[in-house]
Amino acid sequence: EGYCSPSGPIESTHCLYETVETLNADLYPALNRLVHYPFFRHYKVDLFRECPFWRENGFCMNRDCGVMAADEADIPEKWRAKALGEIRSGQDESSCYFRDQDFCYIEDDTTQDGEYIDLSLNPERFTGYAGDSAHQVWRAIYEENCFGLSEAGAAAAPIGFSKLSEGWGTEMVKQDEECEEKRVYYRIISGLHASISLHICQEYLDQATGEWSPNLQCFVSRLGAHPERLSNVYFNALLLMRAVARAAPYLEQYDISVAPPSRIQESDRTKELRKGDEEAKRSLADVIRLAGGKGVERGFDEADFFNGADAMILKDQFKNHFRNVSRIMDCVGCDKCRLWGKLQVSGLGTALKILFELDEKALNPKINPDLLQRSEVVALFNTLHRTSESLAAVEQFRQMYKDTQDAE
Ligand code: FAD
Repeated sequence: EGYCSPSGPIESTHCLYETVETLNADLYPALNRLVHYPFFRHYKVDLFRECPFWRENGFCMNRDCGVMAADEADIPEKWRAKALGEIRSGQDESSCYFRDQDFCYIEDDTTQDGEYIDLSLNPERFTGYAGDSAHQVWRAIYEENCFGLSEAGAAAAPIGFSKLSEGWGTEMVKQDEECEEKRVYYRIISGLHASISLHICQEYLDQATGEWSPNLQCFVSRLGAHPERLSNVYFNALLLMRAVARAAPYLEQYDISVAPPSRIQESDRTKELRKGDEEAKRSLADVIRLAGGKGVERGFDEADFFNGADAMILKDQFKNHFRNVSRIMDCVGCDKCRLWGKLQVSGLGTALKILFELDEKALNPKINPDLLQRSEVVALFNTLHRTSESLAAVEQFRQMYKDTQDAE
């Protein structure tokens, strides 16, 4: 079938990388189709929340940092109305709220804040956002939120990371001393960072010619020379696939339609929307099936985590760190980077919630129909799409590199 048979978690076998690549060959085109349907390409987000941690003054004035809003006429009324009755708890002082199970701040379709963005009009790519502002955000994520690094964290959790303060973002050493949950946290952040870098390198703007094209040198220096960063992208792909597969019965029945309720007399426009809804449903079923492909469960088994004596404490720490990351995203000084940063943190947070907070009963659509908000479902699939696209880009860069070697 083209699958080798993986025999352990991702770092212990190269075979699993091949498995992920084989799965991705079908998954990536399927996701590419899915994210263009109206349900998945519209994301409501508040890009104007203040940075709660420091005075942000690194606003990126480049045209490519800007975000284009969606056409409000394309937004079905039911999205705004849907979650109105949902229970909210844990209101915090900055008016963010987290439900107990959430790993991150969830954008809400029903509030007045924020606006709908058509993601397909705002591709994640090179924007020119760099320098102190960008570094401060990454540093805050790595230094202040990694377990055992901040003072509070150090008291609560034993050290295991390399001393990031001596070179923040430095890849982890001492892996064998590390508790599995803390390593997972680091890998998720590093994998997200690497995936963003991959998109920057893949759609890079040559400022001299004004042309967008893949930049091999960018890939080699940011990723090719750091195989563990790449392995963290594979890790995130497995984590997200596993979450989609685990929540399959729930996600399959999710209402992703945009057509109004059916009537005997329907306009051509409504008929068209209804036809689109049917296609979108088939496309979603395809993605869910492919995400549950052979080998995924062996590469990422959620039962391996949070099962020790201090599982509850670790899970709480993990959740708090991850929630802080979602608030740090308000400090990103480039609108488009903030948009994709927020979306992907939310997508990963949704995956973690599915994997670590919800039992089979909670995932039953009949028992728990309002388990995930629309924005969580949109974020989950778009984050998987981003990650899957990164894996496809790795293959493209490998080929480019080979071509340059052959030419020499
Ligand atoms: P950076 O990527 O800023 O990395 C800083 C340091 O972190 C590196 O020197 C290295 O020590 C370490 N590091 C790098 N990668 C990893 C990794 N994977 N794992 C562990 N450590 C690592 N720019 C755009 O052009 N388009 C975007 O869409 C975009 N989105 C962004 C979203 C967010 C949330 C943030 C914080 C920044 C974003 N940026 C974006 C900026 C971009 O990520 C870089 O910061 C910028 O391109 C400058 O890159 P750099 O080479 O200085 O290294």
